[in-house]
Amino acid sequence: MSLFATPTGVLNKLEGIRQRFLWGGSEGRKKIHWVFWDKIIVDKAKGGLGVGSIKSLNISLLVKWWWRLRSEPFSLWAKVITSIHKRHDKDDDCYSLKTLTEVKCFIWRAKMGRIPSAMALSKQGIILPSTTCCQCNLVEETSDHALIRCSFARKVMTWILKWCNITIVNFHTVNEVLDYASNWGNCPKKKKRLLGICYGTLWGIWKARNERLFNNQLMCALKVVNIIQSITFLWFRHRGDGGGLNWTKWNVLPFNSLQWFFLYLF
Ligand SMILES: [Zn+2]
Repeated sequence: MSLFATPTGVLNKLEGIRQRFLWGGSEGRKKIHWVFWDKIIVDKAKGGLGVGSIKSLNISLLVKWWWRLRSEPFSLWAKVITSIHKRHDKDDDCYSLKTLTEVKCFIWRAKMGRIPSAMALSKQGIILPSTTCCQCNLVEETSDHALIRCSFARKVMTWILKWCNITIVNFHTVNEVLDYASNWGNCPKKKKRLLGICYGTLWGIWKARNERLFNNQLMCALKVVNIIQSITFLWFRHRGDGGGLNWTKWNVLPFNSLQWFFLYLF
């Protein structure tokens, strides 16, 4: 189940089984169950039972597999998986759209500082062996530190800004980055693209942090930049303005295919 997006029909059936188990099963009251079910699957912090939906579990597992496949392309398991499934562009597209959903949710939480950084967890009373940032080992890990101020995050962001041909800006908070991207330049399409790239960057930095913290995997900044470039390329290939987007041009400058549009403005 974890390597493929589970069809909606199957997901609904699985949810149905779980619901019947929890409620003791009564077809006639299905509608009422669904109302309750929505509340049951949400986070405990939001007043739910924290059971989680099977669909979001499936999406999060897909994202994990995609990330590992990208970050360890030469490992034996990645080669085996790739040769068995002969990964095509279509699969990539599927992974990337699932990721986009996860990333949007992640950014929404990061904007409010509600991601599980060491300090955030510690403030909630969770005792951790250390609240120091696992990437630089220098200061306490807040969400703005992990995503923006940490030397590792800065390195990734610097590469990304260089790739976008933007003068390096010294950001301090997640909101600063998002505000900058939302107000950048005159072309709405370019603005949207930069914002998407910033989304991908913050998510990539967080993923690398998790790899280090939970899997003891040290990822170099350039590798993370590469993953960000791939995932954002796949996102924009789907969009209406993504026509003619090709990987080589994308790697040189992510706004390349929008140049013609820019010319019309002046
Ligand atoms: Zn740090």
